[in-house]
Amino acid sequence: MSHADCIFCKIIKGQIPADVVYENEQVIGFRDLHPQAKLHYLFIHRQHSQNVNEMSGDPKQLQDIFHAIKDFTETEQLDSTGFRIVTNLGPHGGQTVFHTHFHVLAGEKLGSFGR
Ligand code: 5GP
Ligand code: ZN
Repeated sequence: MSHADCIFCKIIKGQIPADVVYENEQVIGFRDLHPQAKLHYLFIHRQHSQNVNEMSGDPKQLQDIFHAIKDFTETEQLDSTGFRIVTNLGPHGGQTVFHTHFHVLAGEKLGSFGR
């Protein structure tokens, strides 16, 4: 199910442009508009959910996401130097887009995070 007013659903439908780096039947990966690391990608499921807890109601979607990230990071050889996966939920998590997405941060040694 897609949501008409959801920016990431619009990216999935090709209604707004994105720099797509990975795609399969279930998942797409694209570059974040405002990168927080030398390499910063977002991985989303084609099926709309609001956050990771909602997505976890259908564990197949989590499997699809992590399979896609594995596939992409191995192809790009990011697994040798390493990377970070982040997902934000709600105001305290800093979520600003309410279509579940997994940030993949890579390309440099990342600092610690939290506060
Ligand atoms: P959040 O803060 O919800 O965890 O992450 C939302 C992310 O989406 C942010 O890093 C932001 O830069 C990115 N973003 C927001 N709008 C767009 C867009 O239209 N295109 C792309 N590629 N990234 C976007
Ligand atoms: Zn959506």
